Amino acid sequence: MSRPRRPEDLVTALLDWFAREARDLPWRHTLDPYAVWVSEIMLQQTQVKTVIPYWERWMRELPDITSLAQAPQEKIHKLWEGLGYYTRVRNLQKAAQHLVRENGGEFPKAFDAVLALSGIGRYTAGAITSIAFNQPSPILDGNVIRVLTRLFGIEENPKDKATNAKLWNLADELVLAAQPVPLSPRPSHLSPFSISGPCSALNQSLMELGALICTPKQPRCDDCPLKKPCVARATNRAEALPNLGKRAAATDRRFVAFLAQRDNQWLVQQRPAGVVNAHLWEFPNVEVDAETSDLAAHAAKLLGARPAQLNPLVMIKHSITRYRISLEAYLVTATKGVRATTPSRWLTIEELDALAFTSAHRKILTALRHKTSE
Ligand code: SF4
Repeated sequence: MSRPRRPEDLVTALLDWFAREARDLPWRHTLDPYAVWVSEIMLQQTQVKTVIPYWERWMRELPDITSLAQAPQEKIHKLWEGLGYYTRVRNLQKAAQHLVRENGGEFPKAFDAVLALSGIGRYTAGAITSIAFNQPSPILDGNVIRVLTRLFGIEENPKDKATNAKLWNLADELVLAAQPVPLSPRPSHLSPFSISGPCSALNQSLMELGALICTPKQPRCDDCPLKKPCVARATNRAEALPNLGKRAAATDRRFVAFLAQRDNQWLVQQRPAGVVNAHLWEFPNVEVDAETSDLAAHAAKLLGARPAQLNPLVMIKHSITRYRISLEAYLVTATKGVRATTPSRWLTIEELDALAFTSAHRKILTALRHKTSE
């Protein structure tokens, strides 16, 4: 399939569409590279509507690089609680501390210096430098891959090295073509954005098109500014692209958590460094076989005493990467002699609320609060 239209034409169509249709998102009202950086890290693996309140709260509590660098780790985990992938927040702080130490607390402008920061890869460096500084740095994430593979009719798997390089080249070509193009004015009835220039608008238009129009299922091709040149639309291949190969089958995993009480306090433990969700809090828990029925034996191992009774409190189901996880929470009665076998604390529900929990264990805590207030 031959290449669609000149990059300049694609750019003009995208910039016009973006000026008219882009969502009013809070981070589109600032050019502060720190604010853009925080938004981009939060948006990795997380939907826009989830991120908005997190970003607003974060910017109120930690408005600049220095405040982030100095914040206690417990605070940044609490501000991130529920967003998941906590390595992101630890890398953010590590990079902020580096910038305070080495760069007077200033965010660098040079692409290579941005790319060298902890937790920043090629996509994020491209997003920050284009959005904050209008640099012609390309971006390629899931949304952009979807738009480009469909637009250009690329049938190969975008994870293949050569195809990935080709997609980066196409993204590069588009952002370079955008550089001299005047920014399309945003209609006056819409709230104005802070847009640093056409490179920013072009990159954001690709992300936005992938999020709003060129969606994984049932793309709205009739509303798309690229509908004329789009190869996938012409060949009826939109939903078949990108070709991501076969997905690994999902694996079921079963966990059980035990909620032991002493007076008005509940036993919780902190996850160690170097594991998934490191430093977050949770109720003592263990992974068990699907068939296991003697849960009291597992409780005894974790708590140091066999409970007289286990009363089911709640079952949480969630998915992480290719795992379908079920987490059963039980109230432990007769907890005399209970002592956790890992570093832990006995805390009241109010004290637990102030800690950063993993999302699943936060749901258990919510169920526990309901139960105890009945
Ligand atoms: S025409 Fe359809 S498939 Fe092509 S880029 Fe637009 S939304 Fe995606």
